[in-house]
Amino acid sequence: MADENRPGRMPVDEARARIVAAVEPVDAHERVPIIQSVGRVLVEDVAATGDVPPFDYSAMDGYAVRAADVRAATDRGVVRLRVVGRVGAGEVANRPCGPGEAWRIVTGAPIPPEADAVIPYEMVRAVSRDGRVLEGHPRGFGGWDGSETEVEAAIDVTISVVAGDDVRSRGEDHRAGSVAMRAGTRVRPVEVAVLASLGREWVWVTRRLRVGVLSTGDELAGRDHAGPLPPGAIRDANGPGLMAMVTRDGAMPVDLGQAPDDPEAIRAAFLRGVEDGCDAIVSSGGVSMGDRDMVRHVVGGEGEVSIWRVDLRPGKPFAFGRFRGVPLFGLPGNPVSALVTYDLLVAPALRRLQGETLTNPVEVPAVAAVRLANDSGREQFMRGIVRAVQAPDGAITWHASPTGSQGSGLLSSLARANCLIRVPATVTEVPAGGALRVTLTGVAPLW
Ligand code: AMP
Ligand code: MG
Repeated sequence: MADENRPGRMPVDEARARIVAAVEPVDAHERVPIIQSVGRVLVEDVAATGDVPPFDYSAMDGYAVRAADVRAATDRGVVRLRVVGRVGAGEVANRPCGPGEAWRIVTGAPIPPEADAVIPYEMVRAVSRDGRVLEGHPRGFGGWDGSETEVEAAIDVTISVVAGDDVRSRGEDHRAGSVAMRAGTRVRPVEVAVLASLGREWVWVTRRLRVGVLSTGDELAGRDHAGPLPPGAIRDANGPGLMAMVTRDGAMPVDLGQAPDDPEAIRAAFLRGVEDGCDAIVSSGGVSMGDRDMVRHVVGGEGEVSIWRVDLRPGKPFAFGRFRGVPLFGLPGNPVSALVTYDLLVAPALRRLQGETLTNPVEVPAVAAVRLANDSGREQFMRGIVRAVQAPDGAITWHASPTGSQGSGLLSSLARANCLIRVPATVTEVPAGGALRVTLTGVAPLW
């Protein structure tokens, strides 16, 4: 058990590193259809079985040509090519493109063999069988449905191109046999699209974690309490908020409900979580120094508390340990503290449990828009708004300002924020214009 007389001085980064090191990825996997894999973590390296794209294709609507034929073309000295065919999306040319020839082509259509560049429509003049320049080209000219009155027989090319111009090459995105995504990748919608582009219908991911969520406190009204609150009672913001966090992080929240500040009730709730097969348990409230703060004692009685109190504001009363072997996070009751400590200390552990390859949170250097004070002696994570400001000389700096009062009960101040402003424990004041680090929070993690 942590020494209770020692002041809470474990820096946040150290607490996070210790917590992450104390948990192991769960060793259970499942195969899911790719569209259900969003938010989950891959447990297989995904290799391309074929080249993507599968053939060279045109990036423009225009004419496929042999670049060598038009090396000398200019607006004044055009090069004439015979138009010998057309190739539409999903079609293939029935013969190669010979010297002096061009194929009309649309975006996405395969390049005919021996053609090696595409010239956009805008760069050519279409010419009729009897040598007239056709007006209205390309629109209103030469449809694919036989509706055109006059098909171009040739084109006058007005620019020179080099091999590869406006051609997307076979295998440019992924080569057959290459690894497109590594095990440990968190699947975002873009990864779903990549999986689809590789022809995958199913993918192996970590089994969905089950994470118990318990709210503690004698003052909590039942979640379904209708009508005015009894005197002294408050709504339970943390239970639903933390379950939503767990959902966001790709895990399954297990609602352990509420417990009063009573060790037996809290123990019983944690035991329900263990019996329910939870991979981790998160509680809020009752983890501070008060006589009724029971969470640590309950955890210590059935396991051990390895971290208690972090050098952090908001959120110093934070405990991490194991309850009957299950990782247990005791978060503070103040709703802002609960959500911020969840993000800083619980989310990385859940990511590790899911087998995700961890990366550091996105931080940007910013300047303080106003003077900031830190009299807490702890590292402070202020709820802030950061925005890009452009100076007259064009230079861009990020300006960060707090969202107002930093009371740790004020959820509205967190809801308005798009960043957490980090002020180190040793810094008591940051003057307006001073340098800051901010962690972006308004960034969707799964786009
Ligand atoms: P505690 O950490 O138990 O000392 O609680 C700190 C503050 O957070 C107190 O004002 C509690 O009433 C409040 N609080 C505790 N749990 C919740 C909860 N589930 N929802 C909203 N506020 C809470
Ligand atoms: Mg309490």
